[in-house]
Amino acid sequence: MRNFLLFIMCLITFTPLLAQRTIMHCGQLVDVKNLQLLKEMTIITEGNKIVEVVKGYKNATAGEKLIDLKSKTVMPGLIDMHVHLESETNPGKYMETFTYNPADYAYQSVVFAERTLMTGFTAVRDLGGSGVNISLRNAINKGLIKGPRVYTAGKSIATTGGHADPTNGYRRDLMGDPGPDAGVVNGADEAAKAVRQRYKEGSDVIKITASGGVLSVAKSGENPQFTEAEIKAIVETAKDYGFKVAAHCHGKEAMKRAVVAGVNSIEHGTYMDEEVMGLMKKMGTYYVPTITAGKAVGDSAKKPGYYPELVTPKAIAIGPKIQNTFSNAYKAGVKIAFGTDAGVYAHGKNWLEFVYMHEAGMPALETIRSATLYAADLLGDDRIGVIEKDKLADIIAVDGDPVKDIASMGKVKFVMKNGVVYKND
Ligand SMILES: [Zn+2]
Repeated sequence: MRNFLLFIMCLITFTPLLAQRTIMHCGQLVDVKNLQLLKEMTIITEGNKIVEVVKGYKNATAGEKLIDLKSKTVMPGLIDMHVHLESETNPGKYMETFTYNPADYAYQSVVFAERTLMTGFTAVRDLGGSGVNISLRNAINKGLIKGPRVYTAGKSIATTGGHADPTNGYRRDLMGDPGPDAGVVNGADEAAKAVRQRYKEGSDVIKITASGGVLSVAKSGENPQFTEAEIKAIVETAKDYGFKVAAHCHGKEAMKRAVVAGVNSIEHGTYMDEEVMGLMKKMGTYYVPTITAGKAVGDSAKKPGYYPELVTPKAIAIGPKIQNTFSNAYKAGVKIAFGTDAGVYAHGKNWLEFVYMHEAGMPALETIRSATLYAADLLGDDRIGVIEKDKLADIIAVDGDPVKDIASMGKVKFVMKNGVVYKND
């Protein structure tokens, strides 16, 4: 009898005709395509999809579930294009590479993933970890744990001694000579091999570290670390496998090479100037600013001993500059997709980026568009990022009105991902 009941329940769950219909009454609804706030709207979902969006409050009939969001501002689930779910900043972080097992990263990533989802981010791009982030994505997709949709790079790709070379800064006998398997390449052939290795491991996107970085134990935070030929080999191979390519860049020369080679996004972009912005507009390259991380590392660097000696001056010099770069890029008309580098600061504070973007001149509704419609465009996933018929039911709501007070993006009270309600305060 019990098995029979389970069988019937499964039928109900998986039969689209019988899927749960949910009626959501929205006091305000953000229309990310036309950049307007619609008043008194109803969203109807069925199973994991949005089936109707109508004006006014439509009554729920028998069997339909009613959710009252009349006092809230409702919008598509937020998307952060740059996070690292495996780890989180702390003064002992540099020791973790010697003391942590993959399971340690895995357990903490479960906590960070859930925290991210509960603050309204229903999708993220994980731009680099040990590869545990691939297992994390799989566990979320199986429904074993709670988290956002994860599009992961697996291990990011660097050159020898470059940002994301996993043995950077180690004692000589521990350095070894990591290769494409560990995401370290030299020359076009190895670059192509590293992309193919990511495909083999199950990555969704390719991340390269085209310039030096702030948090690696190395001298420069901006020198170019890939040749043009290496980046071209990565982009061409990535295309064969349907990958988009994200390029971490602070320095100008690295950015030029990456943009010309055809990467899809520039991450951080600190020393971006007019010439680079012009190239990005010409090539259609997105900018993912990560202002929050820049500010956070700048602040942490002021605490004595927080970072290794080589890192501190880079964090102080580079971190605080990103907000100004963002402001210039926005004014120049560069396409901007929301991204924060969560993990470099505490997970769950991703919403601060809205405040910083707004502070730097972007209107509130445009900040939301960058974290929904434009982020989905950069992901290449047109099933999410907008609330309309036939899209996946990724929907969130905040207290208050972000147009009047951008800090309301930090007051997420309702989270639905794939038609499932995870939060309804
Ligand atoms: Zn990052």
